Amino acid sequence: MRQFCEDRESIRALRGVDAELALLAVLTCRGVKPMSRWEKPLAPLHLAPLHRLGLLTRQIERTVRSGAAVVETIFGVAPAFLHLYEQRFAGQPIDKSAETVRVEGFLFGYPPCCIEQYVRKPYVANGLPEEAQGLLFHWACPGCAVTPLLLRAYREALALVESV
Ligand SMILES: [Zn+2]
Repeated sequence: MRQFCEDRESIRALRGVDAELALLAVLTCRGVKPMSRWEKPLAPLHLAPLHRLGLLTRQIERTVRSGAAVVETIFGVAPAFLHLYEQRFAGQPIDKSAETVRVEGFLFGYPPCCIEQYVRKPYVANGLPEEAQGLLFHWACPGCAVTPLLLRAYREALALVESV
């Protein structure tokens, strides 16, 4: 595990913005997620702790249905994933099509089985305790083989975020 994912000062600074942002940063830094999206712009002051954790960042302009522009912040260890996201989504309206769900799911490190289940029928009862499902950024498919492994990594990341 990369040592600088443990930079407590940076994690604390991100937690000061939002605990979920800090959790995403740790998960991404550790490679559990290839990249992550924060659906807001971040000021340089708040980008700095992401950079200190070894993450690359990009601000991506999108539009919403009303035509208004919104800025998202994406971050990851590998430039290729940020580039793929930018190529596919920069300047594009925010949408929830099956295609988008598949591309985002791939880039954000969601299990393929969960992505396909979500596309067929979202939020199917999966038997996971509410606490476990609440930790995840994807909706687990029933009987998922991958999610229990991810949950372990998520719990370790959460414990780090809560300890700083
Ligand atoms: Zn699954």
